[in-house]
Amino acid sequence: MLGKLVFFLIIAALVYWLIKARSSEETGNTHEKTDESTESNTSPKALEEMVRCVHCGVHLPRSESVTSQGDFFCCNAHRLEHQDSDTST
Ligand SMILES: [Zn+2]
Repeated sequence: MLGKLVFFLIIAALVYWLIKARSSEETGNTHEKTDESTESNTSPKALEEMVRCVHCGVHLPRSESVTSQGDFFCCNAHRLEHQDSDTST
């Protein structure tokens, strides 16, 4: 009877240790992932100012835009095209 109880306790301790080891591993992984997502969440990309391409009118984040003489463009090609049309007119 006592031997059975001790055997059960050892099994329970083993299972508990396994679950604890596993959960601490998982917690470590999720902690790293949460840190990364928190960093990207706090980055001001979502709150970034949107600008409009003067050439084609498309809206895009300011950091992805091309700026020239106070005007915003979606790409360098549109900046050049706009400058070309400006000088030719
Ligand atoms: Zn454009």
